[in-house]
This record gives sequence, structure tokens and C-alpha cells, in this order.
Amino acid sequence: MSDVDTKIASLKIEAPEALVKQTEEFAKQIITILPGIHCAVGYGLANSMLIEGDDGNIIIDTLESCEAAIELHKDFQAISSKPVAAIIYTHNHADHVFGTEVLAGDNLSNVKIYSHATTRKMFDITGLIQRTTFQRAARQFGMYLTEAHGIVNDGIGLHLKFDKNSRRPLLYPTDTFDTDSLNLTIAGRNLVLYHAPGETDDQIVVYMPKEKVLFAADNIYKAFPNIYAIRGTSTRDAIQWVSSLDLMRNLRAEYLVPSHTKPISGAEYIYETITIYRDAIQFVHDQTVRFMNQGFTPDDIIGKKFIQLPKHLKEHPYLQEFYGTVDWSIRAIFDRYIGWYSSKESDLNPDAPSIRAQNLIRLGGGSIKVFESAQTAYSEEKYQWCLELTEALNLHPEDLNKSEIIQLQVLALQKLASFQTSANGRNWYLTKSLEIQGLIEIQPSPKQVSQTIMNAPLKSLFMFLSINLNYQKASEFNQLFLFHFQDTNAKFSIHIRNGIADVKYQWPENIQSKSIDVIVEVTKEEIWKQVIARIKGPIDSVSDEEIILKDGSGEINQELIVPFLIFLTMFTSD
Ligand SMILES: [Zn+2]
Repeated sequence: MSDVDTKIASLKIEAPEALVKQTEEFAKQIITILPGIHCAVGYGLANSMLIEGDDGNIIIDTLESCEAAIELHKDFQAISSKPVAAIIYTHNHADHVFGTEVLAGDNLSNVKIYSHATTRKMFDITGLIQRTTFQRAARQFGMYLTEAHGIVNDGIGLHLKFDKNSRRPLLYPTDTFDTDSLNLTIAGRNLVLYHAPGETDDQIVVYMPKEKVLFAADNIYKAFPNIYAIRGTSTRDAIQWVSSLDLMRNLRAEYLVPSHTKPISGAEYIYETITIYRDAIQFVHDQTVRFMNQGFTPDDIIGKKFIQLPKHLKEHPYLQEFYGTVDWSIRAIFDRYIGWYSSKESDLNPDAPSIRAQNLIRLGGGSIKVFESAQTAYSEEKYQWCLELTEALNLHPEDLNKSEIIQLQVLALQKLASFQTSANGRNWYLTKSLEIQGLIEIQPSPKQVSQTIMNAPLKSLFMFLSINLNYQKASEFNQLFLFHFQDTNAKFSIHIRNGIADVKYQWPENIQSKSIDVIVEVTKEEIWKQVIARIKGPIDSVSDEEIILKDGSGEINQELIVPFLIFLTMFTSD
């Protein structure tokens, strides 16, 4: 082996000085903006704000887990022990909503929770892609990284306080609005909630007109905006984000309290800061579209460095690429307008990765030669190329020892991490380097999975059944099942046919009894959730008469357990 055969563990992973310095932004403290208005920084990934009212308090955003909220709850209580009258969710993201149960304190059963109507819809579909986003978020936020692994911070917060043991009960908003704004007086405090789609479509900002305090949510923070999150989100609408920032700067607030990074004050300074932020987004959007219209692909635009922020933007403290980056934004804007296809013919029907790897390795004279090239690339500091080659070798190692490939790949990932200004990119590379060594396995604990199911609305659980259908098993299956929940009178129907599950939130009208295969009467919604969460088996639930099976004419027939069990297996991968 050559000189790149370094002991992996002994390598210290450098970090850009600016990213290290960004950590100062997250020093744990409660900053009093004005008497009775406070911003807690550094308790979780996001900030949480406390507004004291006459006979109750208001909290804006509630951190990422109950664990993160416990200390904050204590410190908020020390400031004011009045009951929490209202909680406002600025948007649906996990780092703003999961500490509610703790922060609402004794008033949990009476607290009003405000959000935009879209937030509720986003909550309903969170579980849809959760399997992949959990893993991707763990990489982006470095959830499994310790300082020894090289984590510095999360770019817009110190560290996402969430792990396998965290509790994250999701409390839905109780009061939503779907207009442009909502005027509220809570405990004597006047607040205006503006729908301001930006970092998310459901984003709201909160303005206190009398005090001139603007709670900016995630539409501005002291880092380059995340027009696209590598943890996996749809691309944010840049133009909409810009117009929301216009709305915000025209309020001429004297205090700007973002949900990440420290608050700032001074009407002029705030106006200028929001202006520069919106200008940066518009610049990247407009220039991407300009080069796109000239026929360039994202690889061209980025590879040839066509789009560089002008000097006064590039040097601005609010536009350092600690979180989002210009390059990822270019890809995202391209994708939002014209989708995945680059327009390069070889991208139209590419071979499977393993075939491409095989072809590349053959072209390179076999895996031994390609491995030597990868080592050379590493010593010549061409880490991206080294990574590409080791990825191919992993897919097609031929006679090579896989651990040798992985060792080199880890080194390449660590080097690439060390140059990343974006905490997201750094954390991703470092997490992946642990994953490929088999040192960590990213998945929620079984307890968290079942908790998510038990907390989810029944409607969402039925909706998600369709995306869990094993179509190979179900290809010849054609059956209609009707569900009735006795405690809430909720009705659902599922028709499996043609490799799909057609889920409806009602029973079909004028249905003939012979078209119905099984009617499933469930005594309580909770029972069904337990079956889905695999807390209780379907056979036990049927024998305990918590689930009653009937034929199409409504006759009880517990022998329908057989088709019922077969039906359930359609939604299992094994
Ligand atoms: Zn956030």
C-alpha cells in the first residue's frame, strides 16, 4: 500500500475557520429584546421566543424534542410563571414543533396552537417520505456525529438535539388561518401573523406593530438561505421567498428576531440586511434562469463558475454558505423549472450504477489499476475524483479487498468534508464515512416508529397504506375492504387492484354487498394504530373482539380472518 494508507482514526478533520467561528452565534442564552419579549438561543437547533402577556404567555416555536425543551421550560418559567396561553408554529419543520408538550407546561390541555392552514396539511403528509428523510436529515445535521468525528455545528444552530431516545410527540395546531394575515390579541398583546412563504410554503412571520418586533421565522438567518435542503425537500420557490422578504422589510421593524441565529436591532440595519438577503436570492434565481435559457446544464453553470455572488453579497455576514450554498441553489432552481433532465443525451436513459461502474473499471484497465488511480487522485488532492472511483470500485470490486476500498473512500470523504463551508455538506460527508465503515446505522428506534404511528391521524395512516403496498405480491389481488371505526364513526375503503391500493376516506356509494370482500369493524381507532405499529397482532385483536369481521351483507363471520390476514400481508415487504 502507498502512503495514503493512513490510520483513519488518527486523522484530524480540518474545518474552515469561518464555520468554526459561526459556533459563537449559538451560545446558549436568553436575550431580552424588550421588557417581556425574549429570545432563547442555543437550547436546540432553533430559537424559541417568549412573549409575556397580562394573564398568560405566548411562545413562538418549540424546538426539536421534549429533551431539548426541558431546560428551556425551566428557564422560561424562571422569567415568568404565567400559564402559556398560546403557541405559534412558524412552520412545520421538526426543529420548531416537537417540544410543545413540555413548553406548554401545566396548560397543555388549554393551550391554543396557531399556524398557517398549510402547516396542518404538511403534518398530515410528514410520514409519507419519513423513512428516507430521517436518514438524510441525520446526515445533514450530523445527528450521529460527535466532536471526535469532526462535527463543528449545524450551520444555523449548534446541533439538532435528537437521537434514538428522544420523544417527539406531534401536537397539531388548534387554530389555523388560510388568509394572507391574521390579527390576534392574546393576553393583551397584539400580534399580526403574516403568511410569508419562503423557506417553506407554510411559513408565517409574526409582527408586533406596537413594539415593532418582527419574528422572522426561517425566512432569514445568518447564513446563506437554504433554497434546497440536501436532507430532501422540494425546491423552495425563490421568487415567492423574495416577495415575502419584501413584505418583511417594508414593515420597517426595529427588532428582527429570527428562528435561527441571534436577533438584531435598528430599523435601518434590519432593512438593509433583509434587502441584501432578498437580493442574493433574486440574483441566484435570475442568473440561473439566464444561463439555463442559454442551454447550459447545472453541471456547466457550476463547473464553469458562471454564477458567482457579486463582491458586496459574497462578503456579507448573512450570506456566508454555512447552510445553503449557491451551487446547490442553482441545481434546485433548474430542477424547479425544468425537472430532472439535464438535456444531455447520455442522461436520458443512463445504465444502472453497477453497469456504469463495471464499464468505468474495464476502461481503466481493471479494478487494481483503477484503485491505483484512486490512490493517485488522493495524493494529487483530487478528492472528488478519488471518491467517484472508490464509489465505482465498491459497486464492482472484482478481486480487490473491500475494506481497502472503503478505507480510501473514508479518507476522500473526510478531505471533502474538511473543505466544506456548509455544515450540511460537512456533516453529510462525515456521517457517510461512518456509515460505510459500518460504525453507525441510521434508523429511528422501533419505539419512535410506533410513537409516530400512534400520534398520526388515522386518515394519514390509511393514506400511507397505499405507498406501502408490495405490488409484486398484490399484482393478482383484487379485493375491496371496508373499514368502520366505532368510536369516531370514521369510514374508509381500500380497493386493491392492478398493483395499487385505492384508498378512500368514505365507503363507496350504492355498493352491492357482493362486491365487498370484508367489512372490518374496529371498536377504537387506537386498536387499528396498534395493529399498524405492530404493538398488537391482528389475530389477537380479532379474538379479543376489538376487530370484528363481517361479510358484504353485514353478517359477522370471524372466519374472514384468513382473507383479512392475507390483505394485511400485501403491505409488508417480507
Ligand atoms: Zn428551522
